[in-house]
Amino acid sequence: MGELRARFWELPLAELDRAEWEALCDGCGRCCLHKLEDEDTGEIAHTNVACKLLDTETARCMDYRHRKAFVPDCLRLTLKLVSEVSWLPETCAYRRRAEDKPLPEWHPLLAGGREAMVRAGRCVAGKVVSECEAGPLEHHIVDWGDEDLGHDWDSDGEDRA
Ligand code: SF4
Repeated sequence: MGELRARFWELPLAELDRAEWEALCDGCGRCCLHKLEDEDTGEIAHTNVACKLLDTETARCMDYRHRKAFVPDCLRLTLKLVSEVSWLPETCAYRRRAEDKPLPEWHPLLAGGREAMVRAGRCVAGKVVSECEAGPLEHHIVDWGDEDLGHDWDSDGEDRA
């Protein structure tokens, strides 16, 4: 992996190199959860059902490097896709930077680790069930509380509601 530039996360997404792009991810695990799309309205319902490769206790992919071999439709986020994918959470680092917003203060790059993100309730670790055990997705629709996230976070990583 190449050397990361200081505060690279403040640069436009288009200027990031591959290592910086990868390092921008907060590892929240939200994009590894199944969603349901209403055929008529296009509305997205979020679930707490995780891809079979997600470790539900840590919210880490168990085989990130080879994930495409096991999950061919796993989304590989690109600059183009960030603006096209409607269901990325408001907190997603790629979405926020694409919208020229700063990273939340609990982001691991700013907070120095994942604890603040977990405290802020923004990591799915321990809150999801694997698709191998879940049964019908319709039974697992959840509200991840995204709608009130268009504002900043305080230094403890908690929402300023
Ligand atoms: S939602 Fe965005 S920041 Fe969170 S794990 Fe997925 S790509 Fe990374």
